[in-house]
Amino acid sequence: MLDDTHNPSLRSWVDSANDPGTDFPIQNLPLCSFLREHDGHEHVHDGVAIGEHILDVTALWEAEVFPGEPAEGDPDAQRADDLIEVLSRPHWMGLLSRPDLVPVLRSQLQRFLLDGPAGGQRDRRLRRHALLSVSEAPFIPPVSFLNFTDFYASIHHATTVGSMFRPDNPLLPNYKHVPIGYHGRASSVVVSGTRVRRPSGQQSPAEDDPASRPSFGPCRMLDYELEVGCVVGKGNALGEPIPIDRAGSHIFGLVLVNDWSARDVQKWEYQPLGPFLAKNFATTVSPFLVTSAALEPFRCRGWSRAQGDPDPLAYLTDPADRERGGFDITLEAFLQTAEMAGKGLSPVRLSRGGFRDMYWSFAQMIAHHTVNGCNLQDGDLIASGTVSGSDPGSRGCLLELTWDGVDPASRKPRPRRPIELPTGEKRTFLGDGDTVILKGRCEREGYRSIGFGECRGTIIPG
Ligand code: MN
Repeated sequence: MLDDTHNPSLRSWVDSANDPGTDFPIQNLPLCSFLREHDGHEHVHDGVAIGEHILDVTALWEAEVFPGEPAEGDPDAQRADDLIEVLSRPHWMGLLSRPDLVPVLRSQLQRFLLDGPAGGQRDRRLRRHALLSVSEAPFIPPVSFLNFTDFYASIHHATTVGSMFRPDNPLLPNYKHVPIGYHGRASSVVVSGTRVRRPSGQQSPAEDDPASRPSFGPCRMLDYELEVGCVVGKGNALGEPIPIDRAGSHIFGLVLVNDWSARDVQKWEYQPLGPFLAKNFATTVSPFLVTSAALEPFRCRGWSRAQGDPDPLAYLTDPADRERGGFDITLEAFLQTAEMAGKGLSPVRLSRGGFRDMYWSFAQMIAHHTVNGCNLQDGDLIASGTVSGSDPGSRGCLLELTWDGVDPASRKPRPRRPIELPTGEKRTFLGDGDTVILKGRCEREGYRSIGFGECRGTIIPG
């Protein structure tokens, strides 16, 4: 629901939040968690991003800023009391089962952040004490991810990757009927900024030498995958599927996800059971969980089918989801090598695309995931799969970006076309010291633009 918290004219006393280019105006308030030292100990604190700063919500809670003064007969008064209880649990875990409290939190935080003189001595002190620079907050993931599932919801990604193996028939026959996914590994989900060690693994034997054996060593085809992750709120009980018409209400919010992939390991191991060690060594998430409430102005069509495509089965069909189940997010991936960083060169953009033309919506993924009775838990991470568009400049991984198609005469893939960087370096896959940065932003006429911040990771040698 749109409410007063989306009003584009709201401004904050935090100056940087009023910059039109910021990802974090007062209308966004994405959730984060970080470590803060006091009393000689490090504590988990929860906060929201505001301009170039983090507002320490735990410090506000400790100072009893919540609840703000409820108006007489305010229907939110009970919810404001509930909010105090919910904020007592670290990592925003309490809020995940109470998405109805997010609008209350937003409006109470806005009351504290709105432009104007501080309300009193307490607020004056908190404006100093509870505002940290983003660079001084050591982030941890905003929720503890218990489970991680990765889908494959971009038909453009599925088609391009499929064409590498089946040039004449790239999409497998199930694609337009089943939201394809696999169970990932939550233990290796790390927050933006965490360095990623190049994994080692088995690589396939040489195809043209029947006597050759698989080799073992550091991954030679290390890749990133630009994805959007849905954080689940209100998990379901085992045995009780979430029907499609309620699935959207379980999308607590979204983060950016980099699903690092060891392509050479993947190629050798994935049949017949799917990805394993090629994927589970690290998955990076952005520190900021953008709530469904903040994303409300940027909803769009959930999915559409080309003429002649089959309709999804009934358990995956909901008219409201089709009309408004999507999110209009512009996504970009950037690369900066160690040499570029050393020479002070900015990261180069590898791709720019959109999340709006996914083949399956998050509601469909949730309905499908639970249709057999599988239980989702508060804080589960459900990632979209690589987000690629139809345009080659919108491809969300190097596997696709450096693919140069199949030679029509020999029917063999052409050699990959490396990306050339301003230093003269070339990349077909990631090198040691390379940093990948993912960004996401939502814009719509009449609304304040919001963004996701950065999802960043640097490769260190294996
Ligand atoms: Mn993936």
